[in-house]
Amino acid sequence: MIVLKSPVEIEMMREAGRVTAVTLRLVGEAVRPGITTRELDQIAEEYIRSQHGKPAFLGYNGFPATLCTSINEQVVHGIPGKRVLREGDILSVDCGAVIDGFYGDSAMTFPVGHVSGVARSLMEATRRSLEAGIAKMRPGMRLYDIGAAVQQVAEAAGFSVVREYVGHGIGRAMHEDPQVPNFGQPGKGVQLKPGMVLAVEPMVNAGGYAVRSLDDGWTVVTADGAMSAHFEHSVAITEEGPLILTVE
Ligand code: MG
Ligand code: MG
Repeated sequence: MIVLKSPVEIEMMREAGRVTAVTLRLVGEAVRPGITTRELDQIAEEYIRSQHGKPAFLGYNGFPATLCTSINEQVVHGIPGKRVLREGDILSVDCGAVIDGFYGDSAMTFPVGHVSGVARSLMEATRRSLEAGIAKMRPGMRLYDIGAAVQQVAEAAGFSVVREYVGHGIGRAMHEDPQVPNFGQPGKGVQLKPGMVLAVEPMVNAGGYAVRSLDDGWTVVTADGAMSAHFEHSVAITEEGPLILTVE
């Protein structure tokens, strides 16, 4: 069941989105060769708590941290720890915050120092694929119009979109209906309505789209070892079109 949000609830979700966005900015400003992913996680947790928020991922199905930090061939759900970032890495940071009972969820991929041309174009294509998906979030469009737009941009750049992990509705729970795939046929799926709030989150691989999970039970990596990037926004559908909630 898709839970529609009232304009007042969407305003409340903007605050959760704002805190999530500021957290990602602060983490991004700290990304550099030599820092550990655990240090980044501490920056995120401190800021969220300073805003009287709660880290959304901490304890979720037993996840042990505030951020998911996924390096290079890691796609999503990497666990922060003692690994030191190195020049040339790319780091996907996924962050969620709960404010007054509402969730914000957003992700960005950051370069660590100077990165390869392929890494830069992968990050750029993934960010553009998210923008293309969001542009479809208007009343009367269909759910798969979003994923089709994401897929078109990612594949036109020579990359592939992950199939096994998808976006989702978001509100008083982090994961609500519907699932929001990053692929599919335009014109299919439920009709988009004002009050729907969706987290759109393309995961785009430089190689093939297949992924597998590591033995830690969390970290998802590309099956072929190629790099992966991840961008995500929580977005409300309004009469006027998409309203991105995870911005400052
Ligand atoms: Mg996320
Ligand atoms: Mg999400």
